[in-house]
Amino acid sequence: MATTAPMHKNRTTTLGRISGFLNGGGLFSNVNLPAKLYPESRDLTSLTWLEIQGPHDEWQKDEWKFSEIINKTFSEKKIGDWFGKTWTTHWFKILIDVPTSWTGKEVHLRWNSSSEAAIYDTQGRMLQGLSPGFREEFILSRSWEGSTQQITYYIEMACNDMFGSGNGDLIAPTNNDRYFQLNRADIAVYDRQIYKLHTDLDILNQIANQLSNDHRGYQAMDTANEMVTLIQTDNDLEKASQIADVYFSEGNGKKAHTLVTMGHCHIDTAWLWPYEETMRKIGRSWMSQIGLMKEYPEYVFTCSSAQQYEWLNKWYPDVFAQVKDYVEQGRFIPVGGTWIENDGNIPSGEAFLRQFFYGQRYFKENFGLTCKEFWLPDTFGYSAQIPQLLRHIGIGRFLTQKMSWSLVNKFPHHNFWWEGIDGSEVLVHFPPGDSYNMNGTVSELLYSVNNSQDKGRANTGIYLYGYGDGGGGPTRSMIERQKRVQDVDGMPKLVFEGPDYFFKELEKESNKLSKWVGELYLELHNGTYTSQAKIKWFNRKSEFFLRELEHLATIARVTNKISGADYEADKERIDRCWKNVLLNQFHDILPGSSIELANQVAWKYYEETWVELNAIRKKYNDLILGNGTTARAIFNPLPWEVKTVIFNKLDSGTQPAGPNIQEVDLKSAIGVENGGEGQFRVPNQFSAALVTLAPSGYTTFDPQWPLNTVVYTAGATGAPAQYSNGLVRLEVSKTGIPYEELYFTGPSKVEQKVFGDRLNTGTRGGHYYIYDDIPLYWDAWDVMDYHLETRRFPKYTENTPFEDLTGAGRIVGISKFTGTFNNSKLERYTIIRADSPLVEYYTIIDWKENRKMLKVEFPVDILSREATYEIQFGNAKRPTHINTSWDMAKFEVCGHKWMDISQADKGVTIITDSKYGWNVRDNIVRLSLLKSPKNPDANADMHKHYIYYAVLPHEGSFQESEVIRRAYELNVLGANNVPLIPTGLTALPNSIATSTNPAVIIEALKPAHDIQNAVVIRLYEAHGGSATATIQLGGGLNATKVQVCDGLEAPGVDVPVSNNSFSTTCRPFEIQSFLVTF
Ligand SMILES: [Zn+2]
Repeated sequence: MATTAPMHKNRTTTLGRISGFLNGGGLFSNVNLPAKLYPESRDLTSLTWLEIQGPHDEWQKDEWKFSEIINKTFSEKKIGDWFGKTWTTHWFKILIDVPTSWTGKEVHLRWNSSSEAAIYDTQGRMLQGLSPGFREEFILSRSWEGSTQQITYYIEMACNDMFGSGNGDLIAPTNNDRYFQLNRADIAVYDRQIYKLHTDLDILNQIANQLSNDHRGYQAMDTANEMVTLIQTDNDLEKASQIADVYFSEGNGKKAHTLVTMGHCHIDTAWLWPYEETMRKIGRSWMSQIGLMKEYPEYVFTCSSAQQYEWLNKWYPDVFAQVKDYVEQGRFIPVGGTWIENDGNIPSGEAFLRQFFYGQRYFKENFGLTCKEFWLPDTFGYSAQIPQLLRHIGIGRFLTQKMSWSLVNKFPHHNFWWEGIDGSEVLVHFPPGDSYNMNGTVSELLYSVNNSQDKGRANTGIYLYGYGDGGGGPTRSMIERQKRVQDVDGMPKLVFEGPDYFFKELEKESNKLSKWVGELYLELHNGTYTSQAKIKWFNRKSEFFLRELEHLATIARVTNKISGADYEADKERIDRCWKNVLLNQFHDILPGSSIELANQVAWKYYEETWVELNAIRKKYNDLILGNGTTARAIFNPLPWEVKTVIFNKLDSGTQPAGPNIQEVDLKSAIGVENGGEGQFRVPNQFSAALVTLAPSGYTTFDPQWPLNTVVYTAGATGAPAQYSNGLVRLEVSKTGIPYEELYFTGPSKVEQKVFGDRLNTGTRGGHYYIYDDIPLYWDAWDVMDYHLETRRFPKYTENTPFEDLTGAGRIVGISKFTGTFNNSKLERYTIIRADSPLVEYYTIIDWKENRKMLKVEFPVDILSREATYEIQFGNAKRPTHINTSWDMAKFEVCGHKWMDISQADKGVTIITDSKYGWNVRDNIVRLSLLKSPKNPDANADMHKHYIYYAVLPHEGSFQESEVIRRAYELNVLGANNVPLIPTGLTALPNSIATSTNPAVIIEALKPAHDIQNAVVIRLYEAHGGSATATIQLGGGLNATKVQVCDGLEAPGVDVPVSNNSFSTTCRPFEIQSFLVTF
């Protein structure tokens, strides 16, 4: 035949001809190949509709169960009709009559409602998701058997698209008033041979374009061109198919780079939609994958997040049962081992571990397996403690790709050993396609080979494909495309396998890999340490609340106030509280990058959790302390004696009074306390008293007279007012903006200036600075380097510059500053307590800004080239200079409860109760307090905030100065209302578990999960040195046996016990867990 291409065939016109023939739209669409895909179609016999009115989560109500829905009245609708508004749910009942002439043909139902949807059978079983653009068909039959019986299906339409409903932009705030049009609902005959040819041509065309300078590329072009001619001239589909098969059968070489290809659909647990929509996304996405598994025996799919499996089981138990079958076959592969894919920076060490504790436990109980790798492809940076956290729960592998988003420096590896702060190492892989949403295209496959930073070191990579973020997952076409090029000369070799296969391959080459030490700092999205401040506040408080609850439960158990059997029910309640807090650590909720509705739902989860935790706390306090009222008790969950001034909310009638108690009225005009939140705020009116609290348990309230009282001196006109307590002395100017000077008298008894503006920047210690906060795109996520150029002092109006609230008090000294700037109003209280070297700042602010960032700054009289930041179970150092691009890119970093900057003889620590964003340049410490992004939540942070932080000057190193203990104390006691609990007992249980070495901190004390007569003690070395400690037990905890255990509480070797104590030695920053049987 005369189809041979001329010798000098024009490449441009040939490629244009091929791609035109593949194209489904345009002027020639009726003569191109896609027009032949569905040669015949018919309307549905009937299309009727029912709306679920009300808020988004209305669909979860009993009234809207499937069994109820089918008994309701449906009304007629037609194609072209509109449905809404956003977040509503609509049900359709469809009746289908397939013509007998279609017998033997493949028949599809086609649906496009321009929204997410799912098809159900008449029993209410979800059959598949339906998504506009990539999954609009449902296979009624691969070969219609000729039945004349009418078929009924139901379709659930969710009025949102894959990415919610952003108003004109992906991350714009939700358009809550949007309507979605039903574009298509019909049945059609599907020509599978045309589909095969279309896929062949598509891939050949891609190879021709990608391998443009390669013989294989030209061969692909010629093959495709010949196919088009065969189809167009003779409609010889068989021959066209055969020549494609010949091209694809020419295999690649033995040493070809291998990509282990696995389906994936990253469903953000909440983001541009709330949790309740995620529950349906999971059903739609995963059921669609079950369909593909039935169709393709080689297909494997990876999926993280125990919470998502739990939701599936709750809402779609029949889908869950099928998932379970495929998990057993090793094709639906749970990965990651965590409850959800959490933020990688902000969660506390204990919360981070609990992600695995609850996640792995879920996978074990439901599927009989635990995950072998940590899986966090889409999180905004990775703490330097993660390697040890993984090792502590038995994981040695980690996968992410997010580091490819760094804006400044390209990360130098895709495969490497990652060493954490304690020296633990894990094997890490970044899929070299730099994505988890790939589509099975030739360009992605080749990019995955060419982009690898480890050429010559690692010859295998992971290829993660499927629609993600909003769910969806792989499609038939993605799998078909990869099947074509599985083993084709010029392309990488593809292996359809899971992560275990890949990591075993990588482990064979792991001796060639490099090592990266310290955090995986993402040079982007560092505004996520600050956005949605209330979520972060809830998070920190919840982490400590849970810590306290488990401590209380331990006391109740070891003193036998509650039996092991009775505790089981409480344990489930505490587990649920933990799971809610872990859920809200999802990597778009805790970072603050979700829409308003998702944030409001997250707040609700916290509030419900606190109601539950308060109820359990009251129950245990009552059980342990009895019903008497002759005394009052204070609970100290910290494992060391604490001497501190506590603030206790004034309650009418029951308030203790006396010479050692000072009553304080903050006279806040802004402050409002509501419900459960009040316990974690400084009350507007409170009494202050100095107490010494026994470690780890209860102490009777017994106010003491301080060694050094607070002395307030008003000073002469024009001279500053002065607050001192023998340890610190604070001068406050009384006119204009109240500037402060701080002096510290440490063990050397020499008074030293704390604030010092060495470089004459004009920075005022303890004051607020405003920055513009207009990033390139990712509004809630980012702070750009250039924001540092926009710093200015607020233009205050309506100020009350200085007001003293101390009066004749001796326990606490307080100065107050009230100011208004732009649209925001604030009250700042500077607080000094008796016998404490801390200068504390409590700010109530009504924040009403647009793309402004608020920071507090401290110029400190310290020369240091690095600052130290608390991270999970330890600390990490970052530079205070910008020598290199790597240093410069860290202009905003994450730290937990404290940051310290020290020189050889002294230092200054800043402690916070819920802030995470820091910048230390030269000797100026900046703590980010608030952002005001408008996308994706137009009202982000536009409300009142209660902000607590403190300055702690010290002599010697921070390790020598008990900085870490002070940071815990401020979080647990200092920034909160400390309740006085009525009791009739005189002897109270305490000192349950203490450490003799201040470097060894007992972080968790909890009843063991699986053993009724045991508790778990988790401790860590906090100073970064080798440390030996004796762990003394008491207060009713009498150990019969102590065993080492891991983070999952699996018992290990015995530890000798003597005098109800045991001893342990830690490496720098080592985490250790023990099971103590009583
Ligand atoms: Zn994500």
